[in-house]
Amino acid sequence: MTKGTPSMGKHGRSKTHIKCRRCGRRAYNVAKGYCAACGFGKSKRIRRYSWMTKKVLTRERIV
Ligand SMILES: [Zn+2]
Repeated sequence: MTKGTPSMGKHGRSKTHIKCRRCGRRAYNVAKGYCAACGFGKSKRIRRYSWMTKKVLTRERIV
């Protein structure tokens, strides 16, 4: 088994991500046991980053 882009061709055979119990997105990795979208199973806190949300308020402040 090789890592990287060539291994992505084998992803169609079995499902790697199932529906997450916490966020509802199909991002829960069955093999790894955690959600890629919200971090369920890995951390108690919900996975969240600043670049995920659009910065609308900062633009309004300039104008
Ligand atoms: Zn999730």
